[in-house]
Amino acid sequence: MPERQTILLLTDGTGRGGSIGTDLDLLYPGRVRRLNFTRERYGVRLLGQYKHVITVVGDGCNLRKLDYAAVTAYAKAGGQVISCLYEYARSRGLHFSKTHVMDRIRPGMKIEMEKDVTRGYAAGDTLWWYGTVSSGATDAMYSNQMFQRQVMGLVEGGGVSLLGSSTVNGGAVMVEEKVGKGRIVAMDLLSPNRPFYNSWGSTNKYLFVGNVISEAVRYGRHYPERLSYDGFVDAMHALAERHPDLSVQAEGPCSDGRQVWSFNIGDEANPTIYFGAAIHGWEWENAFGLMRLAEVLCENPGVERMNTRKLHFKIVPIQNPWGYDHFTRQNGNGVDLNRNFDCHWRQFQETQDVGMPWDYNYKGTRPASEREVQIVQGIIDRHRPVCVIDYHTADYIMLLPHRGDRALLEGIHRDIRRRLKDRYLTQRPYGGPYQQVNMERITDFGPSEPYCISYAAEQGTPAAFLIEMSGNRDDVHALVMNTDTVVEICLAAVKQCLKVS
Ligand SMILES: [Zn+2]
Repeated sequence: MPERQTILLLTDGTGRGGSIGTDLDLLYPGRVRRLNFTRERYGVRLLGQYKHVITVVGDGCNLRKLDYAAVTAYAKAGGQVISCLYEYARSRGLHFSKTHVMDRIRPGMKIEMEKDVTRGYAAGDTLWWYGTVSSGATDAMYSNQMFQRQVMGLVEGGGVSLLGSSTVNGGAVMVEEKVGKGRIVAMDLLSPNRPFYNSWGSTNKYLFVGNVISEAVRYGRHYPERLSYDGFVDAMHALAERHPDLSVQAEGPCSDGRQVWSFNIGDEANPTIYFGAAIHGWEWENAFGLMRLAEVLCENPGVERMNTRKLHFKIVPIQNPWGYDHFTRQNGNGVDLNRNFDCHWRQFQETQDVGMPWDYNYKGTRPASEREVQIVQGIIDRHRPVCVIDYHTADYIMLLPHRGDRALLEGIHRDIRRRLKDRYLTQRPYGGPYQQVNMERITDFGPSEPYCISYAAEQGTPAAFLIEMSGNRDDVHALVMNTDTVVEICLAAVKQCLKVS
């Protein structure tokens, strides 16, 4: 067996099975061997050379050519199998169904059990899980159909657990069966499309596969709804009530008069780390990542064997409440807050034709004219943070300001890249290529701009940087991936800052 190939994809090489192979190659580069079971010979001995075996019968006619007894024997000997539902159902004598519904009913999966496979979700959470026949449908009448596969009549017990059930008919969409020393995890991988940008039914198609193969979800968590700003602030207070180490502080009113709120952890005498998100209000998902981070730091101050209590954390998940609530880039005065900082403000030229409120990057009437900016600048002035991360969406890049501690920033970048490897598959916004969620790209120290990070760098923060990551979706379907990525990036910064503090 070639050294690095640890995953065997048993497929009939047809249609959707082929795209799963392409996607697995992106997720686990060099680690996947594809074997066409309709043409090539294989047996338990060959399977036994791999850590994971994935079966995909793309065309039902090929089912009889798949030796599922060999797959089961492989599991019995300790192998980890991921199967699509059809071959699993048939091998167990269970009824298989594929259900089409109209698009006003989006088929979902309700998580029934919290296990390693379902990490990121709590029992009772539901997520969209379906494919559509909108593209390539021969009859336009069917272009608004959604479909999902299920196993009907599953009997639990004897090592069989229902992990996810259909919101359409209660059938099994994800099953775990313990077999001898190993297991088979059967799930509907064939219904969801490729996880194209902002797809509802397929965003998490490979999340559960990832949980089996590489423990993909570490800190990420699903949040069932995109809260209003007031709802988000209520959730911040509720979290602080559960964790005495966490305090929530009012930082002052924003453009619509409501308070900007911060999470605070640790002794103010310690070096400060400042994390902020949603300064462009429509870039909203990272706010949930920062809420999750606050929770992680309180539940486990010694996370990853770090002593995080040697630091002081100031976290403002939503720096632009009005923009968050209204899905706008600007605040309530039409100002792009990340062009309003008192740093090289006069020289900054808006790229739009008219410099006036609500233009894309309207910088305001004077440096720090906006209350939100005054609040963030005030935090930076008072605490002189060792690290400032300003979270944005939607791309994958780490932007550096005009100055800083290059070694520290490079150390953080290295750590981020390492953490994100082989975790999530996504599509670059908007309509770009498929790729892993990553932070490979980093800019060089650029010119000074009226940005938050430039202001912080100017005030002496050695590690101020801006993160652009996937987001701007219209609902919560990508939050496990988003929150996981935000927490990982924050922890990379924490780890490297602890080394130098
Ligand atoms: Zn932005």
